[in-house]
Amino acid sequence: MSDETIALGYDKDPMTRDRSDDNVTDQWLRPLVGLVVVSGLCTTAGFAVYAALLPGPPPHPLALAVLCGSLVVANRVRVYVRVLSSGDSTTWGEIPVLIGLVLFPAPWVILCAVAAMALIRILDWRGLQKSTFAVAKEALTSGSAAAVFLACGVQPDLTRPDLPALPIVLALVTFVVVDHVIFAPVLSLATGTSVWKVAFHHWTSKVICYLGELAAALLVVGVLATGASAWILLVVPLVVLCMHLWQSRSVRTREERESWQRLAKATDELNAVDLTQVLHSATTRAAQIFSAAESAIDLAGRTVRATASQVLADGPRPPGGVTPPDETSVDLVAHDGSVRVGVLRLRFGGTVRLTEVEQYKLRTFASAVCTAIRNAQAYAELARIAAENAHAATHDPLTGLANRRRLYEQAEQVFRSTGQGLFALLLIDLNHFKEVNDTLGHAAGDQVLREVAARLRDSADPGDLVARLGGDEFAVLLTGLPTPALAGHRATGMLATLDATIEVEGMRLTVEAAGGIALAAGTGSVEELMRRADIAMYQAKRAGEPIVVYAHARDTADLERLMLTGELRRAVAEHEFTVDFQPIVDLGTGEVLAAEALARWHHPDQGSLSPVRFLETVERSGQLPAFADAVLEQSLIARQTWRDAGFDLPIAVNVSPRSLLDPTFPGAVLARLARHDTPADRLVLELTETLTVSQLDVVERTLAELRNAGVRLAIDDFGTGVSSLSVLSRIPVHQLKIDREFVAAVETSAEAAAVVRTTVDLARNLHLTVVAEGVESEPQRRALWALGCIAGQGHLFARPYSAARFAGMLQRGSGGRPGMLAAALHDEGSVVRLSARRLPNLPA
Ligand code: C2E
Ligand code: CA
Ligand code: CA
Repeated sequence: MSDETIALGYDKDPMTRDRSDDNVTDQWLRPLVGLVVVSGLCTTAGFAVYAALLPGPPPHPLALAVLCGSLVVANRVRVYVRVLSSGDSTTWGEIPVLIGLVLFPAPWVILCAVAAMALIRILDWRGLQKSTFAVAKEALTSGSAAAVFLACGVQPDLTRPDLPALPIVLALVTFVVVDHVIFAPVLSLATGTSVWKVAFHHWTSKVICYLGELAAALLVVGVLATGASAWILLVVPLVVLCMHLWQSRSVRTREERESWQRLAKATDELNAVDLTQVLHSATTRAAQIFSAAESAIDLAGRTVRATASQVLADGPRPPGGVTPPDETSVDLVAHDGSVRVGVLRLRFGGTVRLTEVEQYKLRTFASAVCTAIRNAQAYAELARIAAENAHAATHDPLTGLANRRRLYEQAEQVFRSTGQGLFALLLIDLNHFKEVNDTLGHAAGDQVLREVAARLRDSADPGDLVARLGGDEFAVLLTGLPTPALAGHRATGMLATLDATIEVEGMRLTVEAAGGIALAAGTGSVEELMRRADIAMYQAKRAGEPIVVYAHARDTADLERLMLTGELRRAVAEHEFTVDFQPIVDLGTGEVLAAEALARWHHPDQGSLSPVRFLETVERSGQLPAFADAVLEQSLIARQTWRDAGFDLPIAVNVSPRSLLDPTFPGAVLARLARHDTPADRLVLELTETLTVSQLDVVERTLAELRNAGVRLAIDDFGTGVSSLSVLSRIPVHQLKIDREFVAAVETSAEAAAVVRTTVDLARNLHLTVVAEGVESEPQRRALWALGCIAGQGHLFARPYSAARFAGMLQRGSGGRPGMLAAALHDEGSVVRLSARRLPNLPA
């Protein structure tokens, strides 16, 4: 006989709990229980009347008391297993009922069974409803067994009983069937499992137990009927005990296995990347697996509570109260106990002591939960970093605006998508920003840039994209323009927001800006749009106007440049760019120390073009990286051939300021060095001073990368820039190149000589080398040398030549000395003689 008190559970009792989502269940459960109780009472009343109507005296009270007693004992001995999830139990109450029906009139047996069950329920009180249900069920099950006996016409006799084997078998079967018919639907409703699953749960061990009960009943009745030795009866308790132990064990093992399987399934389910999902499934599963009324997980700053069926709360941990007495908690620690992420708490709604196995299971589960939480946390961290990187790749760290890359991407997208109305690019450059940086310092400059960025962002239309291109250059992609004229209107509005003074370190500054607008034609490229906005912006600057809209007519004023723009792509593809090399010479000895690469364009129509004619166009087109790459490549190849000829010279290559704003530039340079197996310190990059200080922070990073790799850096045309010293303080270089302007006047102007001298002194103090440019005469060479300048380049030594001619020159040398281009200065006599004789013979 199954025992419903366990099945219905302590806490899951469908008759007492109050769960709103179980309304449907309760709707069916209550009438069902009610029906059982009413039928049980009617059956009991019916049998009571029947007992009263029976002819003859009632059975001896002592005999009835023995029957009652054995019913109580048999019903109290339970195979009761509470293995983690749900319990199950079987009692041996059928045996005394069957034997009783052989010995006593059926009504008395039923009354005894009902009385015994009532007594048990009073002793083990669990509420009126449960108790009446149990008693009613007992009345119905044993009543049905009695009905079978009556139907089979079995005559009970206490003194000389028969052995009605078939009725006993039938009665037991009926007993079991009725028991399940009443019990299975109730349990099924209460637990939400199917009726079949409930009815056939552990069916093999149940059947074996029923057979055991049958055997015991038949044995007892057999002994009584045949008058065999009553000692045999002693075997009955033994058999029952053995059966009992066997069943206990098999049920326990099975439950144990199922519980481990549930645990394994639950830990599988924990393998999620979302922390919330992990916590919710861990808490609900914990409540299910450990049959807890409620479970909770506490992490730092977060608590999740759940029952077996739903999450109750998820949020910040409520202020700590007292731990309820029915609570068990376990630390969520890794297998090796190294990390603790939180606590898992279980509340049972009754005092429960976990067995050792259960505790082990709990720790295993806790460690699985710990791993899952850490995985989810690690995943979340990775996702966060990835998002941060994605943001950093497309945003300017100083102002938070989009960067150049993002602007290009967005502009390309707008170009591709048609039907979005007109759009335009507004380029904004701050006037005199350099002065802010130079006079107030870098931090103040940053503050101004941030404020400008904020104002531009706030004044932009929702669809517009405001970007910082670097330094003090901003750009706005104006989209969805109804008419072209509106672009100028909107841009004026944006620039007007910069009129209000900006307060920096207690000072009120006004920022002026020049803006250039280019309207996008239906087709075209982002580069072209950028170029046009750039031209317009420079026109605005030159004209002192706030805004200029690009006009083709004004652009054609620079006809040559425009014509060249279209040809640049071809020039790169057709290798029309070549490089000539000019030696850098030791002014004292005449030895060649290095070579400077100077670009040339062999134009099919215009012949050889010097850099001044095409450099600006190259810089403003998208071809700069390809051009710079071509120059570096040819320079490194030339260097290699000279080295193979025995002259291992460093090569100096000029770098456009714009290349330094390109974050891919250092990588490209280093890759080429590696490809040509050239040590980084054999490359000198010459930087022009025209870099504005506001661009320095971008440039600094680029240069640091190159410098750290070993590449040498030189400042070209030193002395002409306004802020030479401020550049030097920010960019650690290895070399200064004194501008031609000073060299040309070094003998005639005391001022020029002073510049050379201070530059040399500065270089000595900073441990830098100095090269004088444009040395055209022997007196200049002497004067420079006297001022302490060690190296120089210029027409005096050689003009720029092709790589092959340069090699020939090195090999010939001067005065039969390869690698020398002039006589040494310290040998006074020879210098005058040799140079006077040799120089005119140098190839022109
Ligand atoms: P720079 O770096 O100052 O180069 C020196 C310039 O002075 C060269 O002009 C050279 O031919 C010229 N020069 C050399 N010795 C003498 C002399 O004794 N007297 C006079 N009057 N001039 C002399 P070039 O080749 O026309 O180059 C002009 C500028 O173009 C260079 O000035 C450099 O800034 C730039 N440049 C040249 N090649 C490249 C390149 O590959 N990339 C970049 N970004 N710029 C380059
Ligand atoms: Ca140079
Ligand atoms: Ca120069």
